[in-house]
Amino acid sequence: MVMALSRKKPIGYPEISFLSFDVLALLVKLQQEMGLDSVGPVSFSLQTMETLACIRWEHGKPGGDVFFHSLFNRPDVPQPVIEHVLRHELLHLKIPAREIDGKLLHHPPEFWEAEQALVPWKSASWGWMVLAFWEVIKTDIPNECVWVKKSWRKLQKYPYPSWQMILDDQSRYSDKQGQIQILMESL
Ligand SMILES: [Zn+2]
Repeated sequence: MVMALSRKKPIGYPEISFLSFDVLALLVKLQQEMGLDSVGPVSFSLQTMETLACIRWEHGKPGGDVFFHSLFNRPDVPQPVIEHVLRHELLHLKIPAREIDGKLLHHPPEFWEAEQALVPWKSASWGWMVLAFWEVIKTDIPNECVWVKKSWRKLQKYPYPSWQMILDDQSRYSDKQGQIQILMESL
């Protein structure tokens, strides 16, 4: 993703989590489930930064660092959305970037295949993200990146759509397939 990869550590300050659940416990659980115990500890930070989410690691060094933008740091962000993005970011530790037709792709086809299997609820989750974040982000397909506008604080949506609403009524996002596709390809 999300979630983009980052060469540099994002500039910003880690925030206290306002999520409605224990995100660190979830991260540990997912790391175990995905067979990533042996990669070493993975840290998690919520902070203001240029992209929506990213994971950073260095070859030869254990573990990695996952960063989520402050846009995710609200009690009305559904756990399934956070879990989707966490699984996506952790998957980068399993499926490396690969060169295809002379271009380095961080999300080669096998990445999307694995993500589909890991996140069966991904359509609803992408739908939620488009409804919640579309006005606040700029997608950048060539760089596989989702930028967050500098004015995100003013532009953010209150309240975010509820997860139940997304599940109950797919028509809320079914007409947004074009936007979902762009967001997916950027993440
Ligand atoms: Zn990614």
